[in-house]
Amino acid sequence: MIRVLAQSAVEIRNLHKSFGHLEVLKGIDFSVDTGQVVCVIGPSGSGKSTLLRCVNLLEQPTAGQVIVEGVELTHPDVDIDAARRRVGMVFQQFNLFPHMTALQNVMIAQQRVLKRGRAEAERIARENLDKVGVGNKAGSYPAQLSGGQQQRVAIARALAMSPALMLFDEPTSALDPELVGDVLTVMRKLAEEGMTMLVVTHEMAFARDVADRVVFMDGGVIVEDGPAEQVIGSPKHERTKTFLRRVL
Ligand code: ADP
Ligand code: MG
Repeated sequence: MIRVLAQSAVEIRNLHKSFGHLEVLKGIDFSVDTGQVVCVIGPSGSGKSTLLRCVNLLEQPTAGQVIVEGVELTHPDVDIDAARRRVGMVFQQFNLFPHMTALQNVMIAQQRVLKRGRAEAERIARENLDKVGVGNKAGSYPAQLSGGQQQRVAIARALAMSPALMLFDEPTSALDPELVGDVLTVMRKLAEEGMTMLVVTHEMAFARDVADRVVFMDGGVIVEDGPAEQVIGSPKHERTKTFLRRVL
């Protein structure tokens, strides 16, 4: 393992990402301390998803460093698979395997990737399904579940891998409004339990109440980064004010 000095759960240094001639991330610097919740807000197309995808190397950064728990994921010699296992990700679309039950969805990567035995994987899967409030749906297939239940299974699946850090990319954006609350409640609980979380969201009430910090991105740069109350309640920059006027 390639270790560098770092106290943070995640540290991003001068991160750049281009797709061909399109420069999407133009030098991003920020960090998330262990146990912190950081919400990323910003207009569509500002690079939020690309940033999250760079944090677990679903996208290869063009330049810069991503350091997770002191391990530089962007170092050429790093064991990417091992490093990536430390980072859980929850997407807008839940991406559950349709031909597997909720229980099987939460077991499969534990068995295949972490090489946990069947009994252990099942025990951990049930614990996490219970934790997110869908323990009674273990035998159901995704098509038999509501969007909110599917997303909670997806969260349980990520938690079952014992991640050091959880990334959420607009986890409630695909849900019917009446189902959003159940997912946010689960995320609040995780935050209270001390999970380190980096959350892209349009849920400003959640960001304000739960996040330690809010990062406002626009045009591939961080425009503003500060305490949630300050960035949402009294933003300093005109671009942040304009964005918040539109979404609040
Ligand atoms: P956000 O999540 O803030 O809406 P994204 O990170 O998804 O923004 O996208 C930022 C920009 O990068 C957009 O212009 C988008 O079209 C572009 N982009 C994202 N992924 C790719 C890709 N794989 N290939 C080309 N362009 C991409
Ligand atoms: Mg996005």
